[in-house]
Amino acid sequence: MGNYPWFAHRHVFLVQFGVLLQHASMGSILEIRDLRVAYRSRNGDLSRALDGVSFFLGPGEVLGVLGESGSGKSTLALSLLGLLPRDSVVASGAVLFQGRDLLKAEPRELQAIRGKNISLIFQEPSVALHPTMRVGRQVRQILDAHGMGDRDELVRRTREVFETLFAEEAERIARSYPHQLSGGQRQRVLIAQAIACRPSVVIADEPTASLDPTTQKEILDVFRGLRKNLGLTMIFITHNPALLSGFADRVLVFYAGRVAELGPAKRVLTSPKHPYTQALFRSIPPLDEPHDAGERSLPTIPPDPNRSFPPRSGCPFEPRCPERMEICKSRDPGFVSLSESHMVSCFRYENQ
Ligand code: ADP
Ligand code: MG
Repeated sequence: MGNYPWFAHRHVFLVQFGVLLQHASMGSILEIRDLRVAYRSRNGDLSRALDGVSFFLGPGEVLGVLGESGSGKSTLALSLLGLLPRDSVVASGAVLFQGRDLLKAEPRELQAIRGKNISLIFQEPSVALHPTMRVGRQVRQILDAHGMGDRDELVRRTREVFETLFAEEAERIARSYPHQLSGGQRQRVLIAQAIACRPSVVIADEPTASLDPTTQKEILDVFRGLRKNLGLTMIFITHNPALLSGFADRVLVFYAGRVAELGPAKRVLTSPKHPYTQALFRSIPPLDEPHDAGERSLPTIPPDPNRSFPPRSGCPFEPRCPERMEICKSRDPGFVSLSESHMVSCFRYENQ
């Protein structure tokens, strides 16, 4: 028990959580400041993927990140965990977690944080699990890797997390191999891995994108349940606004690696202000239409010749904007506050 970590005791965890809640009035769990990430192509050119992204995540909050394919959502998720590929360049920014800048953290420090304090759920369940290992053991290994207790404790915690996700089927599922499970069950195992250590933040990157509509709904219900029962703090990334309604507290709308709009989910989803968000919602069927949730992908951003360095001036949405004005071509709109919690990057609101 010498190395037994203090957070392995649940009541201590809750005390710590209370401290975090107190911090909420002063700050946040995760804070992203002016993050700029580019990818280097074979010929050495840089193309921007994140272009000055800033936001914070409050304790117990679900932040929905919404954007088309190619808008930089996965780049954001990867940069928060120090998992960016080698061809990427972090040009500026900070990712503050518990007073540390994760962009400056040593690989070993990041490895300790990943999965324990901040965990990531990817979209493709079949590649993420080891094919010849029982899934129960795969969850236990994560707890073990993060020193979450002795053998009995690891077994107990594994059972507990399987019960949370599979109820009375827990034991049977834990003894199964990935190929014996359905896509939805495998996705639940990935969720089990992600929450096993009771992380402060879970980042889910299009966790339902590869699932059929029925399973998609089932997994979404799992997330809603976790949120309600465990008070999970989460960044939920999707290209489908329907998944966020009634679930996310706030919504951040991404366009071409920039925050176009950020505000309370109810406001952004029902009364969007940025011309891009408005266009985005016009282009998709009604939110409560259950059937085509899986196929309903948004149009991809056409290759933008202006994404190279140095950045173009002006609003990135200007070329596609139905409401563009002269000023939008040459000047960066920055952010306009519509209320204390609702921001939009658009000149149309500048004098309101
Ligand atoms: P999203 O998850 O919203 O679809 P991504 O973060 O995957 O967006 O991609 C953002 C932009 O960065 C896209 O233009 C994409 O083509 C580019 N990109 C992503 N990963 C790489 C990579 N490893 N190398 C080069 N370009 C990349
Ligand atoms: Mg992605």
